[in-house]
Amino acid sequence: MLSLPFDWPALRFKLRQWAREHDQVVPQAGEINLARMRILTPLLCGLSALSTLVFAFRLLLLESSGASRDWLFGLLWAHLAMGLLMLVFMGLTHHLRHDARRLAGRLLPLAWLVTELVYATVLACIDQWVTPNITPFVLGCMLAGLLLHLRPRESAMLFALAAGGFMAGIGLTQAQPDNLLSNRVNGVCACLLGLTLSVLLWRKFAVITLQQRALEKANQALQTKQRELERLTRVDGLTALLNRATFVELTRNELARARRQGTPTTLLLLDLDHFKQVNDTWGHPAGDEVLRHVAALCAGTVRSTDLVGRLGGEEFIILLPATRPEAGRVLAEKLRLRIQNTPAQVQGRPLGICVSIGLASTAPDAEASFDTLYAAADQALYQAKQWGRNRVV
Ligand code: GH3
Ligand code: MG
Ligand code: MG
Repeated sequence: MLSLPFDWPALRFKLRQWAREHDQVVPQAGEINLARMRILTPLLCGLSALSTLVFAFRLLLLESSGASRDWLFGLLWAHLAMGLLMLVFMGLTHHLRHDARRLAGRLLPLAWLVTELVYATVLACIDQWVTPNITPFVLGCMLAGLLLHLRPRESAMLFALAAGGFMAGIGLTQAQPDNLLSNRVNGVCACLLGLTLSVLLWRKFAVITLQQRALEKANQALQTKQRELERLTRVDGLTALLNRATFVELTRNELARARRQGTPTTLLLLDLDHFKQVNDTWGHPAGDEVLRHVAALCAGTVRSTDLVGRLGGEEFIILLPATRPEAGRVLAEKLRLRIQNTPAQVQGRPLGICVSIGLASTAPDAEASFDTLYAAADQALYQAKQWGRNRVV
């Protein structure tokens, strides 16, 4: 059985994978190419103008005849034409600068490279009238491979056309058979070298671009996770209210502010009545549902500037900044009634629940700490339980 020198299926798989990767970076290549063309085009325009001037002076000031004169004329026209074409490209590149991610980003660089290679071929062919070297073509191929990002299949077509054009063109101006053969071989080698450079640089560009994108994506996911983690350290997992530590920290800040501004602060401590019975009768998941329900009622009843937290278990805590005890009591009563009159839905059935609320306030000019205010509210809550529950003390 004939064994193949390459693993063709693996190679085809790899090429398909590359093609898919290349599809993803084409728009970015267009952007980079147009940005580079905006620098390269004026540069080439200037070089062509300079060359035109040099050959024009040479023609005007020094004697020349025969092949030398044809050569000078040929170069003069070639550089002049290239200068004008680069002017056209300058205009197009500027005009289409916002379409770099669309068709213009693909076609314009390709047209620019075709022009550059035709220019290099024409110069090398004209040179054959006075010298057998093909330096302009070799340089042209290297630059075409290096300057712009071209997809490998487009690059292969470009350099195949360049090789064909060069082989045909050089046959028109180089009559000496050995020179012709040597130049054709060298020309094809230059095309292969240009193609290799182009493919290597394109692959590097594609790999780096895709890696950068993957890194950016991973970074964004990480930042989202970090924000979520930070949030989770500040809120209670069951009710999404502030957790104890965060509530205490924010309350201390609030009390310091109230002291500076001389405003009273009121603290409410809520404890669900006979909550243990809910758990015992309906199970802990039902108890959790009741806790979420009460948390939502608390958060929905107070102002957005008030702080609502879960101390733990079935105890909630609410800070009312700039609020006198009378106003705090009105709110506490409103909240108590609301909880009493809004049953939670447990396993499709309404489940009534009551709360006892202990209230404590700071005098506007008193030095109150969180601990003293909390202890006072706790004492009031104890009284509320003692006096029969479902009340505000
Ligand atoms: P009281 O009227 O005197 O406050 O009676 P109570 O039953 O509410 O008070 P107690 O402190 O004896 O019970 C509180 C219960 O809350 C006990 C515990 O099982 C329950 N509990 C604490 N944390 C959670 C929780 O996160 N989920 C659920 N489902 N229950 C909890
Ligand atoms: Mg309790
Ligand atoms: Mg309780």
